[in-house]
Amino acid sequence: MNRKEILSALKNKPGVSVLIVGGGIHGIGTFRDLALNGVDVLLVEKGDFCSGASAASSHRAHGGIRYLANGEFRLVREAVRERNRLLQNAPHIVKPLSTAIPIFKWLSGLLNAPLKFFGMLDTPSEHGSLVIKLGLLMYDAYTEARGAQRTVPKHRFFWRKKSLARWKHLNPNIVNTAVYYEGAILQPERLAVELVLDAESENPNARALNYVSMVGGMDDTIILRDELTDENYDVHPKLVINAAGPWIDFTNRKLGLSTGFIGGTKGSHIVVRHAELREAIGENEFFFENEDGRTMLIFPLYDHVLIGTSDIPIEHPDEARCTDEEIDYFLKLTRRIFPDLNLTRHNIVFQFSGVRPLPRSTAKAVSQISHAHSIEVISGDWTNLRFPVYSLVGGQWTSFRAFAEQVTDKALAYLGLARQKDTRSVPIGGGRGYPPDATERKRQIESLSAWTGVARERLSVLFERYGTRAETIATYMNGGTDFIVRALPDFSLREIVFLVQHEKVCHLDDLLLRRSMLAMLGRVTPEMTDELARVVGNELGWDQEKKAAEVRRTLSILTDRHGVRL
Ligand SMILES: Cc1cc2nc3c(=O)[nH]c(=O)nc-3n(C[C@H](O)[C@H](O)[C@H](O)COP(=O)(O)OP(=O)(O)OC[C@H]3O[C@@H](n4cnc5c(N)ncnc54)[C@H](O)[C@@H]3O)c2cc1C
Repeated sequence: MNRKEILSALKNKPGVSVLIVGGGIHGIGTFRDLALNGVDVLLVEKGDFCSGASAASSHRAHGGIRYLANGEFRLVREAVRERNRLLQNAPHIVKPLSTAIPIFKWLSGLLNAPLKFFGMLDTPSEHGSLVIKLGLLMYDAYTEARGAQRTVPKHRFFWRKKSLARWKHLNPNIVNTAVYYEGAILQPERLAVELVLDAESENPNARALNYVSMVGGMDDTIILRDELTDENYDVHPKLVINAAGPWIDFTNRKLGLSTGFIGGTKGSHIVVRHAELREAIGENEFFFENEDGRTMLIFPLYDHVLIGTSDIPIEHPDEARCTDEEIDYFLKLTRRIFPDLNLTRHNIVFQFSGVRPLPRSTAKAVSQISHAHSIEVISGDWTNLRFPVYSLVGGQWTSFRAFAEQVTDKALAYLGLARQKDTRSVPIGGGRGYPPDATERKRQIESLSAWTGVARERLSVLFERYGTRAETIATYMNGGTDFIVRALPDFSLREIVFLVQHEKVCHLDDLLLRRSMLAMLGRVTPEMTDELARVVGNELGWDQEKKAAEVRRTLSILTDRHGVRL
């Protein structure tokens, strides 16, 4: 069903078993799990899918080694397993990531975990070699634990001399480096949309709408507003799942529920174009702490470098922006690791900021706030609502599946249904049938090329972007006259049209920011926005005025939120 059909079906039949409010990774993960279990479920997202906290992540599928210092062993164990599952289920987007920790001390931080456990630790500090070694041993053990499959190699330590030979621009003041493996979620926004599409294709009673807000509710009714037309819709759910991330308390307030679940912290990133830095890090992420224990990363993002992040308490998630002070901090800490590479503000092509939906906490330092997830249930006569509301607090991109599984189990129990399927080894989108090695990949591309008539080189690019969905896209491209987009020689018209028609694009910025990496990799130009506005507009029935308005909207978002100057 397309957007119009979903909305008109809602008018005729407003009853639904589960309404999910919020289309970040936790809402979407739960949507997919419920869909796979045959539940009729509606998801509404006030903006585009994966445009809140889930679009602001550091792109890491990680076990959270630093949470060991907070004594959160269960959390780390779960996250390591989920990281491994993501590597297996979404191999087109989540890739093994060699992670180097440059270490400047030997013994520091040794007592953090036990002191934290006994409530005696106020201020975190940078960790030394010994403590990192212990953490990595534990990490390796979790990766090999019963039932888990080894998806990444074990950690290694390199002495100073070897480290400096390996990375010649590295700060010579290090004592050694540790190298271990995590996962890189190269396109989180794409992964999220593919989960939505998988869910809908699996279950005709699972429907997801972007640009629809939950604006109020009472008794047995929730009021939704279509943000594209301003029209309101009533729905009658049996259960509401509030997956509004950092907006959870604001969303509960719309239902007359006064909650204080979230104590969010802002985190920002910059994306830089700097050939020497990109070459210096190779295919390794550099993950390290500053002197007060806050973590930073320098991460290979295609031919660019992603640098972040900060951790700053913030009241309203709408206000999150990457500030000049944060940029100074990122540049300073990058210089600490690679002192002779001259990285400046001129190298920044994109910046972004978001708010972690962390539980409200009394911890004295933000790095000590738990990153665990929980389901807060509100129900009862006092609420003026005839359905319970589950709020999904905390969590990590990496562990979304496990969190969604717990929420789904609870929802199924409430609805009196039994679980039919679990999602542990269900492939996601273009990860389905993904070739296990380069030879098989080459073979798949060759046979696809013969089958669809699309050139091999072009198919390799599609494969890189969409995994095995390249087959559907190439077949579509071959079904009509196709030509290269003038301002974007590595994209073709029908590829873009496919994304618009099949991936719920409503605004031009959905395409530039979330269905593709064009904005994040600093590729947007005024000519490109004009050309793409024409292509998208022709599909969505925009007149000239609307096309111009879409270009203005996109440029304003890019300037205001992402520091892009065209
Ligand atoms: C700076 C930063 C770095 C991070 N790095 C990592 C990392 O490297 N690895 C990792 O595993 N995790 C990371 N995380 C954590 C992870 O990104 C978040 O925990 C996760 O994305 C939260 O997802 P969510 O679905 O709960 O929230 P969101 O993604 O914020 O989703 C909530 C959605 O609800 C919508 N919404 C709000 N109100 C309404 C309403 N009334 N009606 C309809 N929709 C509504 C919002 O528009 C939003 O899209 C990071 C987070 C941040 C901020």
